[in-house]
Amino acid sequence: MRMVKFLAFLAVLGMIFGFGPYPAAAKTTFITIGTGGVTGVYYPAGGAISRMINKKKDVYHIRATVESTAGSVFNINAVMSGDLEFGIAQSDRQYQAYNGLAEWKGKPQKNLRAVFALHPEAVTLVAAVDSGIKKFADLKGKKVNIGNPGSGQRQNSIDALTINGIDWKKDIKAEGLKAAEAPGMLQDGRIDAFFYTVGHPSGAIKEATAGTRKVMFIAIPNVDKLCKKFPYYAPAYVPVKFYPQALNKEDVPTFGVKATFVTRADMPDDIVYAITKEIFENLDAFKKLHPAFEVLTKKNMLEGLSAPIHPGALKYYKEAGLIK
Ligand code: GLU
Repeated sequence: MRMVKFLAFLAVLGMIFGFGPYPAAAKTTFITIGTGGVTGVYYPAGGAISRMINKKKDVYHIRATVESTAGSVFNINAVMSGDLEFGIAQSDRQYQAYNGLAEWKGKPQKNLRAVFALHPEAVTLVAAVDSGIKKFADLKGKKVNIGNPGSGQRQNSIDALTINGIDWKKDIKAEGLKAAEAPGMLQDGRIDAFFYTVGHPSGAIKEATAGTRKVMFIAIPNVDKLCKKFPYYAPAYVPVKFYPQALNKEDVPTFGVKATFVTRADMPDDIVYAITKEIFENLDAFKKLHPAFEVLTKKNMLEGLSAPIHPGALKYYKEAGLIK
């Protein structure tokens, strides 16, 4: 009887510590990805990354979940503080955080790490036609949502206004709404226009253009000047094909950035390696998960990264011959 008890005890120990016939159960690593509003593209993008990783839970032992957040600036800060493991952030925001600019003035985030780039995002200005806004200068005196603190777009809106001689504090009635709230507010007549830096197509812009209040996209003037001043911006277009109810007939000139996937320096290499490898080796399947991913290539997914690339991702890029 004593022997039986002893063997049972050994068996339990074996199960816990993984010896004898019981291999240790691989420890699952839980990761959360910070995204944006649910009607943006970051949220489904984070969902797409999670889905690809979770499908291989037996291989990687990673369990990924997605959190809807205030956007880029929030995500970078939450990744740096350890509240989130990964986040999606605009390439301009990645640059500013790493170099101690804008919201991070004097506080460079030297432990921020780039993993890869995702879809392009266009600074999208949507205005209600009955508000009398036909061109950018007409924003003066109007109620305009420039974006919530914590969002990527807030600084983009301010830069677009400033380069065009509009003081966002004096010349417009600036609102700080979340992007997910702006389309409804525009349709309800509570704001005249809103800025959103987002990939296309996005649910928010569909919602804004498909209501009874007619809307149009407004071109941003002086993009050349802006891109000269801030090298992390590039000329871009709002593709109107996705929004047939908007009054525009042609794609609308603006400027843009890239969505990027970021983490921090102390994230274990094997976790970052697994995620990078899984997305890159199954890029065709990944691209099918959102129409904004259509333009992704292994090459352009390495562009727009200004923080150092995380060693786990770098290991994969070297193995795959994408980086020497
Ligand atoms: N670019 C936005 C931001 O950084 C988010 C866009 C999205 O959620 O797709 O806040």
